[in-house]
Amino acid sequence: MAKATIRCKCEQCGRDFDKVKYFRSGKDADHWAEWAKSVEPYTLCIDCYRADQEAQEAAKAAEYELPVISGKSDKQIDYASKLRARYVSRHDSEIKQIQEITAKYKTMEEAEKKALAKSSGLTYDEDDNIVLAEGFKRTRRLADAYLCLTESDAGTIIETLRYHY
Ligand SMILES: [Zn+2]
Repeated sequence: MAKATIRCKCEQCGRDFDKVKYFRSGKDADHWAEWAKSVEPYTLCIDCYRADQEAQEAAKAAEYELPVISGKSDKQIDYASKLRARYVSRHDSEIKQIQEITAKYKTMEEAEKKALAKSSGLTYDEDDNIVLAEGFKRTRRLADAYLCLTESDAGTIIETLRYHY
């Protein structure tokens, strides 16, 4: 193992930081270090990178109408909203799927809804939201995305999403 370290400067906060990589041979390490020094591919320190990432996720999450989160403390609410923003920003297709299914279900005739509920093993209810909620909660791939769209309790959001990453 050969270690290569290059010194980088964060373009956001101006701090110097080290980028370390390991290689099989010293030759590879030198090669990489030379390349990295000329190209300067690392422009953000880890703190700024994370902050940047969080800001992007928050912006993406803001595109959706998500419930206002309530919790025991601002810290808990903040953590829950970061987890939710990260999840939502990475699961665009699940969110869209939920929105599509919801829209489609709401245009169905009552008989169709009854048949669909029955074939899905759900109890038909005149309140569309109840059937949809039950359906999404049982669909493993969509359950967490559905939670993001509907849950307002910080504790529940943290409990569900914290082990995703
Ligand atoms: Zn920085």
